[in-house]
Amino acid sequence: MTNSLFETAKPILETLQAHHYQAYFVGGSVRDYLMNKPIHDIDITTSATPDEIEAIFDKTIPIGREHGTINVVYNGEQYEVTTFRAEGDYVDHRRPNEVFFVRNLYEDVKRRDFTMNAIAMDINYQTFDYFEGQKDIKQHIIRTVGNPDARFGEDALRIVRGLRFQSQFGFQLEEATFNAMLHHIRDIKYLSIERIVVELEKLTLGNYVEKSFNNLKLFMTFKYIPFFKHFDLSKFSLTKAMSFTMFIAFLISQQREVNSNITDLELSNNDKKYIKKLVQLIELIDKIHTKKQLKLFVYDYGKKDILEVLSFLDVLELNQITSISPLILNYESVNEVAKQLPISSRSDMDINGKDILEVTNTTSGPWLKTILREVECAIISGEVCNFKPELKKWVKTRV
Ligand code: ATP
Ligand code: MG
Repeated sequence: MTNSLFETAKPILETLQAHHYQAYFVGGSVRDYLMNKPIHDIDITTSATPDEIEAIFDKTIPIGREHGTINVVYNGEQYEVTTFRAEGDYVDHRRPNEVFFVRNLYEDVKRRDFTMNAIAMDINYQTFDYFEGQKDIKQHIIRTVGNPDARFGEDALRIVRGLRFQSQFGFQLEEATFNAMLHHIRDIKYLSIERIVVELEKLTLGNYVEKSFNNLKLFMTFKYIPFFKHFDLSKFSLTKAMSFTMFIAFLISQQREVNSNITDLELSNNDKKYIKKLVQLIELIDKIHTKKQLKLFVYDYGKKDILEVLSFLDVLELNQITSISPLILNYESVNEVAKQLPISSRSDMDINGKDILEVTNTTSGPWLKTILREVECAIISGEVCNFKPELKKWVKTRV
């Protein structure tokens, strides 16, 4: 069966072949295609060197020239084209000290991490599977290409990647692969946190995350990762796929006493902000006992994030993170309250700081912030109508 993504990229391989170079699809897209899963980005591997790739195609971007990766822009899309390469000795368990461009596919797939990721496929969907990757896929096995001890010793990220694939596909770790993971787990302390997080972000979203998370715990992986090393992960059970940010928020909420620094994870500012918000939201959950409290809660944190957290109620309870008053706080009540909120943000208020100063005939000060919040709460609870004359009257009686 053909696949539209491979079909669209086909001309790139054909062009390379027309210039007498070899070219194949390789990596995650071939693996996912053979597993009948939707494929996303396509990787192309070729015997052409970066210079030769650039000479053939009009539009290229040298995104990783020294590693042999050139992006070819074709029909407005970018395709990653990488020269067949072999790797020199590894230093520090994370990066080869040099890479060599080679002209032979076998050398290229030999350096890849797992057998299922080392399958090349040509434009006719014929596979070149030197390490029985398809057999392993059929048998649901994750196995390194070559000696697992050597492969994890070279690059410890492969351990985290292996667990990430287990979470995504539910496969078993082949015995020697499993043992070598256990043996080399300490080496992940040499990895940059960014590379680890990229894999963990995919791991927590996997359908088989529970299985993989149990192995992460078994290997004591978190002991060797910044930020996580401060937490007691044995207390945490991850039984359901969730975003990495949600997982972090749950962990912080479960172990509030832990002195950790989220900046150690090198996340984006948006992610950090979101985690902080989730932690505050989770902290309030067991304090919502009345409809009035619920209204303010929904107003302050928004229906979307509250419902997202509520969808993990079982995980929250299992990990003893919080408890809930189910009659007050539930999917329906949040939806209902959200629909009836008189305003959705402060900018909807029919009164502002200037109005308040006018009414009270005073000068600005920190109290203004307090009274604005009081007005906001009164509008949300329905105590006062969001209508300027009413609001002014209400403020007068307060100050
Ligand atoms: P995804 O579908 O999530 O992108 P992927 O297998 O394509 O998964 P990538 O990080 O995109 O993962 O890597 C592309 C390919 O490069 C892999 O399939 C594998 O063949 C090879 N590869 C990636 N990282 C490593 C590594 N640390 N060691 C050896 N080979 C690797
Ligand atoms: Mg990929």
